[in-house]
Amino acid sequence: MPARPFPPPPPRPAHPGESVTTLDTPVQALAPRAASGIAARAVDVVKTYGRGEAAVRALDGAAVAIPAGEFTAVMGPSGSGKSTLVHALAGLDTIDSGQVFVGGTDLTTLSERDRTLLRRERLGFVFQAFNLIPALTAAENIALPLTLAGKRPDTDWLAELFEMLGLGNRLGHRPSELSGGQQQRVAVGRALIARPELVFADEPTGNLDSRSGAALLSFFRDATRALGQTIVMVTHDPVAASFADRVVFLADGRIVDELPDPAAETVLARMARLDAPLSTTGA
Ligand code: ADP
Repeated sequence: MPARPFPPPPPRPAHPGESVTTLDTPVQALAPRAASGIAARAVDVVKTYGRGEAAVRALDGAAVAIPAGEFTAVMGPSGSGKSTLVHALAGLDTIDSGQVFVGGTDLTTLSERDRTLLRRERLGFVFQAFNLIPALTAAENIALPLTLAGKRPDTDWLAELFEMLGLGNRLGHRPSELSGGQQQRVAVGRALIARPELVFADEPTGNLDSRSGAALLSFFRDATRALGQTIVMVTHDPVAASFADRVVFLADGRIVDELPDPAAETVLARMARLDAPLSTTGA
């Protein structure tokens, strides 16, 4: 039997996000959510791809504040600018005008090299594809960011993280010997190991079955509550979004709505309205 399996998701209730707090995870008993503050901010961000007639205004004055220690989901119709916004917030891409802050740092003032350093030192990423190194064990993949930086992991933190991830005796296995859900937990461990200020997740449950997806999303919720971790997740799935503390909705390159303590049905209803916009531009 594994040392401590990842807790199974609860039966799917009407409001799945509300029931996960009952899970018997070791992190539940730890510290409360981090003190309030803003972990990242976009101010009137404009980003255009292409030129002339082919130009697409992916962000058109987008403004959002990401609260520290919270789990924020970003939703919107396809093409509404979700990925572009998150790429801008994460310093993965430049913007045409406006400002983007991570903590107190204005990314628009940084060189590309400094943005790369900021990403490496202050941010973590989880993608739909797990992007693990096949030749390394799960534990080695998780420790990789520190290994590359020539840093030693804090052994207490490493033990706590391993415990939270619930990979048990799978830590010595290579990715090919792990399930999709386990591989994604390794990827999440790798994103958290350096204790980043912010973790960005782009459709992290896209390659997972619903049970593994729910377990991962419960883990995200627990990480915000237990560790004060700030998480920003792009998703198109209202159930996934219902695990977040807050959902922000994008349409046509702008934040048009936000929903605290979302339930899947409410998210679905808001999305239905955005998918049938009054404007004729479409997605
Ligand atoms: P979403 O993540 O909500 O689906 P995106 O941020 O990917 O939206 O895209 C917003 C708009 O910008 C879309 O119209 C998309 O086609 C366009 N776009 C995104 N990336 C590029 C790119 N590299 N080159 C040209 N157009 C792009």
